Amino acid sequence: MSNVYTPDTARHDLHLKWADKTKEAYLYTKNDNGSVACYLCPRKCVIGVGNVGFCKVRRNLDGILYAQSYGKATHVTIERIETEAIHNYMPGGKILSLGNFGCNLDCDYCQNWKYSQFQYTDPETIHEYTSKQVIDTAIQNKVKILSWTYNDPAVWFEFVIDTAREAKKVGLKNLFKSAFFLTPEAVSELLKVIDVFAISIKAMDEDYYTKFTKGWLPPVLANAKQVHKSGIHYEISNLVVTGLTNTNDNYDKMINFIKNELTVDTPIHFTRFHPDYKYMQYEKTPIEDVMAARNRARDAGLKYPYIGNAFESEGLNTYCPECKELLIQRYGLNTYLKPALGPKGECKKCGYKTTVKEIDPSDCQAELAL
Ligand code: SF4
Repeated sequence: MSNVYTPDTARHDLHLKWADKTKEAYLYTKNDNGSVACYLCPRKCVIGVGNVGFCKVRRNLDGILYAQSYGKATHVTIERIETEAIHNYMPGGKILSLGNFGCNLDCDYCQNWKYSQFQYTDPETIHEYTSKQVIDTAIQNKVKILSWTYNDPAVWFEFVIDTAREAKKVGLKNLFKSAFFLTPEAVSELLKVIDVFAISIKAMDEDYYTKFTKGWLPPVLANAKQVHKSGIHYEISNLVVTGLTNTNDNYDKMINFIKNELTVDTPIHFTRFHPDYKYMQYEKTPIEDVMAARNRARDAGLKYPYIGNAFESEGLNTYCPECKELLIQRYGLNTYLKPALGPKGECKKCGYKTTVKEIDPSDCQAELAL
């Protein structure tokens, strides 16, 4: 499929140098006529000389595809892993969140639109980093995980892969939070370097994807299954958008996909939307809606159903799926390991082995009773 955008050099030069040959892209082929075919994501843009793809950060210069946003970051922030809708891996762990700009989707209600939609990004917020500088920053701040997040790290692919590979060599973990609109080849490369995937599925409706995200659903679901088969830790999130996806039909389709195609052990996070971008007319998702979704998931047999973007709620906590004992309590940005949680994620009350892993009491606000 061809999605060729003509260059808007004035806008582009606010953020990137039009002729910047920073890094040759991975995952593309060259055509005899000088055009290139990118297969990083399912759009498979065919890009003529001088043009960029749909994501606007990958440009064909002289018949070579360049990842022009390589090494250019917007956000670099220390946060907790829970902010990425990851609750069953390294609870309370400090992450170094990194984002840049551009996206291969264009969701009408995007919660990061000032960065995902490149034309709105303030050039003053863009800074250049090398992989080594990112890794050194993490080590200096005693961070154990690099989190590739915000706009969508899919279009930052080369820098993510290169940095993650080096980070692994010094013992850092890598978390990739994405809408997962990628080709199987791209996912295969990520599986080599990523330790945790936070997979955002927007809805379980193909028409919805086309209309509101400008993408399509089947590759996202196929990629989730590919990650599941790999055995690497992953969790699924669904942004519940008021007036669009706060329906039992959406919740049930999401729950059934996880039950039937993945496993009931997969954590699911129903997260709250706030009005943003082209969706200012809708109210923030009521907490009752995400709790209703979470309760439906629990009642359907999913073992780790959560809500997200809430300050205080039992929907943030981790309970033993067997005896319902409270194992991890969350309040605001604080994470408390309760005495019933054993060091390997087991419930001390009934002996059930949960999927919670990489537990380190020093990441949390209370002592774990070992
Ligand atoms: S990553 Fe960008 S250039 Fe490549 S296919 Fe997707 S939208 Fe097109």
